[in-house]
Amino acid sequence: ELSEAGILEAIDRGSHGGGGTGTFWTLDPIDGTQGFLRGDQYAVALALIQEGRVVMGLLGCPNLPWDGGRPDGPAGCLFAARRGSGAGWRPLHEDGEFRPIRVDSAADPAAASICESVESGHTAQGPSADVAARLGVSSPPFRIDSQCKYAAIARGDASIYLRLPTRDDYREKIWDHAAGSILVEEAGGAVTDIAGLPLDFSLGRTLQANRGVVATNRLVHKAVINAVQSVLGGGGRSEQ
Ligand code: AMP
Ligand code: MG
Repeated sequence: ELSEAGILEAIDRGSHGGGGTGTFWTLDPIDGTQGFLRGDQYAVALALIQEGRVVMGLLGCPNLPWDGGRPDGPAGCLFAARRGSGAGWRPLHEDGEFRPIRVDSAADPAAASICESVESGHTAQGPSADVAARLGVSSPPFRIDSQCKYAAIARGDASIYLRLPTRDDYREKIWDHAAGSILVEEAGGAVTDIAGLPLDFSLGRTLQANRGVVATNRLVHKAVINAVQSVLGGGGRSEQ
């Protein structure tokens, strides 16, 4: 049994700087703390990074309904993805096989649904609404906390996840995106930053080379990046 001191010592061992060589795990024990405190969505996110590349991701979502279309139905999902082997889910508190999941097949951005953070400090909700308008999306944004957004894209509850920067100096953390991004990619989707660049997990504890995140069902990705670039004015370059 671990003592309090033992637990604190174990937590302090999680001090690896990340980077592009070797193999390490990245863990977010409570991703979506605000959602956790509200009793809404949160996730336990674990990913394996090899030579700067995410090769495996696990996402435990204790409050996420089994069926996105039945928000009051049974909840608690475990998602898993391995590079090249696809993505799947199973109920969190039951044993059994993982069932494959796949992104939705909306090819017309106007028919797509958008999910984003509940927290206006974590994503620029105003510009997101402008992107939605530009794409012709009329349904209101689906707001949930944590990497459950990646799970929503991966299983087709929504087609687009927008995370638009609220500040110039914020850098996304690898543990906030590693597990979710491989889940979406292995379910057939695409994940980039707001400029359309791949997320680079090889640069340490933050995604230093990236700004914001856009995850989609892949089919609408280009249209979404174009709309984001128009709204944000060239991804950070100043408009004259
Ligand atoms: P979400 O649940 O999508 O709002 O994301 C929660 C994560 O947002 C937390 O784990 C934080 O690491 C991260 N976060 C904190 N501040 C910011 C910020 N200014 N912009 C983007 N993400 C942030
Ligand atoms: Mg987090």
